[in-house]
Amino acid sequence: MPETKYKKDEDFNEWYNEIVELADLCDKRYPIKGMNVWRPYGWKLMNHVDRQIREEMEKTNHQEVYFPLLIPESLFKKEEEHIEGFGSEVYWITHAGTNELEERWLLRPTSETAMYPMFSIWIRSHADLPLKIFQIVNTFRYETKQTRAFIRVREIHFFEAHTCHVDFEDAEKQVKEDREIADRLLKKLCMPYIFCKRPEWDKFAGAFYTISIDVLMPSGRTLQLGSIHQYQDNFSKPYEISYETEGGEHNYCHQTTYGMSERILGALIGIHGDNKGLVMPPAVAPTQVVIIPIIFKGKEKEVLDACEILSKKLAEKNIKSHVDNRDISPGTKYYDWELKGVPLRIEIGPRDLDKKEIILVRRDTGEKKSVSQDASIETITVELDNISKSLYENAKKFLDENMHRVQSVEEAKNKKGIVELPWCGNDDCALEIENILDGNTLGEPIEDDEECKKYSCPMCGKPAETWMRFAKTY
Ligand code: ZN
Repeated sequence: MPETKYKKDEDFNEWYNEIVELADLCDKRYPIKGMNVWRPYGWKLMNHVDRQIREEMEKTNHQEVYFPLLIPESLFKKEEEHIEGFGSEVYWITHAGTNELEERWLLRPTSETAMYPMFSIWIRSHADLPLKIFQIVNTFRYETKQTRAFIRVREIHFFEAHTCHVDFEDAEKQVKEDREIADRLLKKLCMPYIFCKRPEWDKFAGAFYTISIDVLMPSGRTLQLGSIHQYQDNFSKPYEISYETEGGEHNYCHQTTYGMSERILGALIGIHGDNKGLVMPPAVAPTQVVIIPIIFKGKEKEVLDACEILSKKLAEKNIKSHVDNRDISPGTKYYDWELKGVPLRIEIGPRDLDKKEIILVRRDTGEKKSVSQDASIETITVELDNISKSLYENAKKFLDENMHRVQSVEEAKNKKGIVELPWCGNDDCALEIENILDGNTLGEPIEDDEECKKYSCPMCGKPAETWMRFAKTY
């Protein structure tokens, strides 16, 4: 089978760009940089990921909404830190037709400032809480760095959940639930991840704290897929989101948000793909099983019928399959579906049918085997499960091998991936380490860990308060 021009383990970034185009995920030739066209296969894939997100939202009693794309400047300006954080990334609308607007509007970079004035109207009493809503929409950020499909774009396909609670503790429970949602979702996508509590200088503008969800890409750089924010009452005060308690007092709500973007797709492509193309985790593969009829003269009908029957049986078990009966060679079909990353390929020919067998080929390992036609549905189900497991295990192995806990910056320098160093808590020390490593501060692990207290900060020599993670990032 032909392989990509660029090899994943030699030139990851070029390989990534090549795969995105070859597999028909998006078209970057649209004349605004960073605003790419989603092609049918890419959009389908995104929809499958979104479906998993919607399922999780439903399970956890979030309601889906849709807010306007445009936000008036006056609303956006209510929370000071938020403006400072986003000001330079915003697209402004200044005219409607030939009229200059009295007040400028902006394209949402995220929706806090669109939603919260409405929350202030909706929420009256403690009985209205918790309020848990989400939307999956496009957001806009003016990126000045080099754009990259799904990873750094200016029009972003974005999931955002917003919640309001009676107090800080209830909002903390939401943060915990969000972490569980992230865990279930990313396990389905066979992607190991780390949670990092972002340092103060890098938390979301306006947040009390931010937990990032990061994955490690094969290039050794981390990619932030999303974040979970605890706002306390930082937004509810300026936006006047308050409620009446049972005792008749008026309190401000405590709020959280949870956001993720199309970067999930970027991670899927990068982590699981290989030199033949994409490798889709079965849970989100638009086609989970492709069935290829091996046609011989005089046996066409017999073979095609067997393919269709199998496809119907799979549909009954909610396994998405496709019979590729195009009039082209089987080899060309194999190539196409390998590129698209379909997890399992089935070949059915007259000789197999004589033996009452079919042939299964795994996309991830290339492993090929004959199985009895009678037991095929069970075997296919098991194989799909095996594929998910081994995709996750391989990615986990890579992450584990590339997370290094070290005590000195010297040791950290030579490591690929993520390093954890003991840190005193002083911003300057972390920023200096960033400089030396030519990387970024990811944040602290969220799990309590006393071990770091045995060590001292490599910069100032003071006792460490926590581990701090550093990596090169996208
Ligand atoms: Zn220090």
